[in-house]
Amino acid sequence: MDETTRIFLAGRRGMVGSACWRALTRAGFTNLLGPTSAELDLTRQADVEAFFRDNQPQVVILAAARVGGILANATFPADFLSINLAIQTNVIHTARLCGARHLVFLGSSCIYPKFAPQPIREDALLTGPLEPTNEAYALAKIAGVRLCHFINRQYDTVYWQLMPTNLYGEVDSFDLQQSHVLPALMRKFHLAALAKKGDTAGIARDVARFGPLPDDIRDGLGLSRDGATVDPDRVRVVLWGTGTPRREFLHVDDLAAAVLHVLSLDGVPADLVNVGCGHDLRIAELAEMVRRMSGYDGEIVWDTSKPDGTPQKLLDVSRLTALGFTASISLEDGLRRAYDWYLRESAR
Ligand code: GDP
Repeated sequence: MDETTRIFLAGRRGMVGSACWRALTRAGFTNLLGPTSAELDLTRQADVEAFFRDNQPQVVILAAARVGGILANATFPADFLSINLAIQTNVIHTARLCGARHLVFLGSSCIYPKFAPQPIREDALLTGPLEPTNEAYALAKIAGVRLCHFINRQYDTVYWQLMPTNLYGEVDSFDLQQSHVLPALMRKFHLAALAKKGDTAGIARDVARFGPLPDDIRDGLGLSRDGATVDPDRVRVVLWGTGTPRREFLHVDDLAAAVLHVLSLDGVPADLVNVGCGHDLRIAELAEMVRRMSGYDGEIVWDTSKPDGTPQKLLDVSRLTALGFTASISLEDGLRRAYDWYLRESAR
């Protein structure tokens, strides 16, 4: 692979895709193909085939997927399964048909069984039942992982399967129903800090940028229906579950660096590889870090009617380390960067 290699990055607009795009551009790659979903609908097989025929990419990075947090997964399981199966089957199968020898398929650590021994090794795949809250997404991703594996075996290709742990960073989703925990924490604490100060204009700017607030959040902020007034004495932050589950977090720029790293390897058989930072923390500890950054010092309520999800998710990263890669962005630095990005966007 050199700077002129034709690389198709599917999912360029998303958090992972845009991080990969930045990393590729920074590394000097000049022949990048990154159609938006309006330009190329990856769920339509004929369109994907035409795209490959016309452009003949040599390397494919598959970062396109229907993604979401614990509630989105539980609410739209049929969409998560069928859309993800369609996207990945179209892209991976067509890449192989058109002779792309290198591909990176991105999944998620939720492919592993709910009670897999921690830290989770790659060989835990398909050894037990999945976490029900994201089973549909996980089933699609498992099919993609195995498809890449079988294509490598049958056609001698180099189709990597990278499974990142919980990701965060710029360009995340801040929709409070759909998002993952970290963007939700940032937005909830920031809005609560604004409400405490009576800054309804700041809340309105955030809503204009990141979308309307669900009723329970509006109530928690003590915000009137028209958004014109707040009652600072009623402000509280409502978080989901018990706060005891443990999660590992990886900055998305570290994942992008790992993608470039595996693509740079020569003569190494492609495999299923976990991408994590190697340590986890309790959701309640994470919440405390975000609370401190936001300056909010009011009440926090844990809504235990919401699901906790899997009790722990920590990846064993020895396979990645053996390939010569280690994540380098600490949670403190990464959180600061992500929070600064969110604050800038929120105040636009
Ligand atoms: P998961 O890693 O697949 O379980 O997905 P999430 O990132 O959505 O949730 C991780 C954990 O954070 C779960 O235990 C959630 O219950 C908890 N959590 C606490 N507050 C929130 C919140 O406001 N939004 C989300 N998405 N999760 C939250």
